[in-house]
Amino acid sequence: MTELRTLKVALLGCGNVGAQVARILMDDADTLASRTGAHLQLAGIAVRNIDAEREVDLPRDLFTTDAETLVKDADLVIELMGGLEPARSLILAAIQNGASVVTGNKALLAADGPALYEEADKAGVELSYEAAVAGAIPILRPIRDSLSGDRITRVLGIVNGTTNFILDQMDSTGAQFADALAEAQRLGYAEADPTADVEGLDAAAKAAILASLSFHTRFDLANVHCEGITGVSAADIAAAKEAGFVIKLLAIAEQLTDADGDDGVSVRVHPTLLPREHPLAAVRGAFNAVFIEAENAGELMFYGQGAGGTPTASAVLGDLVSAARRIVLGGPGRIESTTGHVPAFPIDAVTTSYYIGLDVADQPGVLARIAQLFAEHGVSIEIMRQTIHRDADSNVESAELRIVTHRASEAALAATVKAVKGLDVINSVTSVLRVEGV
Ligand code: NAP
Repeated sequence: MTELRTLKVALLGCGNVGAQVARILMDDADTLASRTGAHLQLAGIAVRNIDAEREVDLPRDLFTTDAETLVKDADLVIELMGGLEPARSLILAAIQNGASVVTGNKALLAADGPALYEEADKAGVELSYEAAVAGAIPILRPIRDSLSGDRITRVLGIVNGTTNFILDQMDSTGAQFADALAEAQRLGYAEADPTADVEGLDAAAKAAILASLSFHTRFDLANVHCEGITGVSAADIAAAKEAGFVIKLLAIAEQLTDADGDDGVSVRVHPTLLPREHPLAAVRGAFNAVFIEAENAGELMFYGQGAGGTPTASAVLGDLVSAARRIVLGGPGRIESTTGHVPAFPIDAVTTSYYIGLDVADQPGVLARIAQLFAEHGVSIEIMRQTIHRDADSNVESAELRIVTHRASEAALAATVKAVKGLDVINSVTSVLRVEGV
């Protein structure tokens, strides 16, 4: 029987995900050896504080605070520290030493991915990051490998569990944003500082990665138009519900042709109304899902846990096994395809349907004036609904108008909303949200 070779694995970080990766590497060593053709030897674990309490019992002598030295001697490096530095320098050092790297660090990839991929290409090593988008869900490999003979036209993703939990709470209980956020924090779905989640920044980092792989062009965070969910009110959710929609924070990457006839891609994150029968509308709680439209495959949906130590470790191990196999078999490694060179369009180039909520005076002729203003700006109305309210104290009646438009450009919509605000019969514009999937 031939001796299996040993591949040294350096693990950087032993938190939620890293500790589970270490556990699986040790518990499933034999299985991993049979799948890769090599012993994956956990050579060391770099952390900040060796004495910190860990979720998994691991030999103390594996731990070090000297990540630089650990990386120098590794065949495979798993980066699960998070943050930009020292993660970036350690990944670069690993690549330059000829090690393949697995990371879950979406923030770093969105900020600096193109430079890191280029270094990995030059060195002929793999840089894989399945865990960086939608946790346990195998989504990057299907986009990169399984769909590489097809042409993806659109990707819609619920890629942030915290915001999906909050919006789902608001939808199912009628709670206001602040109360749903507090509940998410109490249950551990949201961090004490929830900014990166609720402002859409975490989803934007994932949108840049999804767009890059789907359209064979390197996009970074600067190419992503980003709006979070802090402005979504209980009234928006209730109105959307009544009209047959659910509000989701979507990461969207889609192929477009702009007004000049040029082809490009729009990458964006914003709260979006989806028809309640759309497959993504059924994604509840903190779950994630990615919905893909491709020319030949048609519609595909990938669903699962978008976070959590053990689920995310599954994605990390998948990348590790693949990288180890390539080292054992001597393959060329998985090189990203970046031959697309499509431009990233600004949000102005996008056309979608819109939902607009208006608080208007209850007077004769108001609806006709509003409809005429929309028509003058080239925005056609698909649905217009009115509900009358009477203020109990003043006895004054006002009307709530909810409008869903046909597809219109951002520019036309913005001009329409500005003009509507100028009408003397408008008390306020209560919401302007984009609609997808109609
Ligand atoms: P975490 O729980 O905060 O753990 C971070 C680990 O890195 C800790 O062990 C910490 O050491 C170590 N570390 C941080 N800075 C370091 C430094 N300068 N030098 C040495 N060690 C350092 O993070 P996590 O939740 O496991 O996430 C890890 C990565 O996976 C992040 O990029 C995250 O975005 C990504 N990810 C996480 C999830 C998830 O569900 N958690 C899902 C998908 C992707 P100490 O223990 O000594 O403090």
